[in-house]
Amino acid sequence: MPDKRDYYEVLGVARDADGNAIKRAYRKLALKYHPDKYDGDKAEGERKFKELAEAYEVLSDPAKRQRYDRFGHEGLRGAGVHDFSSMGFGDIFSMFEDIFGGFGMRPGGRGRRRSRGLDLETEIEIALEDVLTGCEQTLEFERMDLCETCGGNGAKPGTSPTRCETCGGYGQVQQQSPGIFGMTVRVSACPRCGGRGQVVTDPCGECDGTGRTRRKRQLTVRIPPGIREGQIVRCRGEGEPAAGGTERGDLHCYVRIRPHPFLTRRGQDVVCRVPVTFSQAALGGTVEVPTLSGREEMDIPAGTQNGDVITLKRRGLPAAGSGRRGDQCVQVRVEVPRKLTSEQRRLLGEYAKTENADVAPERTGFLDKLKEYFGAKS
Ligand SMILES: [Zn+2]
Ligand SMILES: [Zn+2]
Repeated sequence: MPDKRDYYEVLGVARDADGNAIKRAYRKLALKYHPDKYDGDKAEGERKFKELAEAYEVLSDPAKRQRYDRFGHEGLRGAGVHDFSSMGFGDIFSMFEDIFGGFGMRPGGRGRRRSRGLDLETEIEIALEDVLTGCEQTLEFERMDLCETCGGNGAKPGTSPTRCETCGGYGQVQQQSPGIFGMTVRVSACPRCGGRGQVVTDPCGECDGTGRTRRKRQLTVRIPPGIREGQIVRCRGEGEPAAGGTERGDLHCYVRIRPHPFLTRRGQDVVCRVPVTFSQAALGGTVEVPTLSGREEMDIPAGTQNGDVITLKRRGLPAAGSGRRGDQCVQVRVEVPRKLTSEQRRLLGEYAKTENADVAPERTGFLDKLKEYFGAKS
């Protein structure tokens, strides 16, 4: 789930818009970005069209809309929202048949049966430490599933669907009309069975004859080490069942990595900043630094400067395939005391008297250069 816009904004409706207003807004915009109509950049049009479909799927479903209103995009994790980015136009048109049906626009062939079910999407959030080792996460999500009562055929137990007589079980009907070059044949979905080829005379009470019910599913997903933000872990066959076919769609888990309080990822390396005192930097010593696998002591050489970077080899993240780890880069920040006790002031005063070119070569060099420059000018 890459960063998403607000669904109300996408559809251009108020937050309290009713179902009809949402439907009207969606229809208007979807027709504007319809692949056959949109004149602008094709890829941009497709992205908009899919963004609209997703917004409409959520806002037109009271349960999903409520979750979105309360918790935003976050709340839709596992709610059974389809992954429109992986979907073809044909699938989107058949999902919202009631919207597009009246316009006679459904590229990809009317009544075309899918052999594979639709893909669903969800999000998985993991800690940065999990990227190091890989992890398993159990997630719960909702999906449309074959009805257990009727086994998915939509007929009341004890009865079975019968072959549609209108289309003879083909799901499609042909219409012939005279044209310039002879008879033109138009093939369209059978109006009686809606392309299924079968009709249910005695519908199953559990699913109202649709053959599908919404069910919760628990699944343990294995996240491999080295994964990056926004990558997809694809769970084969965990999406929705196909209408007539056997192969289920997939579940796409978009991986999000929680920000770490100390460590920032930079490719395979991790970066952190560690404050040290003025005397630690001057005298050298050891400081404790946070790493992906706990605290670690790190040596600071005497004379460390503010901004110096110390590299802890192989404390970074593993490469996806090889497992070879990056480094941890620790940037030292020297903290100059803002407040001193009188004792500290006295000691530093004593120290200051000893400062000379050996103690601060850069400062001395700077002063010499300054004198030379302005001396020459005046
Ligand atoms: Zn049923
Ligand atoms: Zn039929």
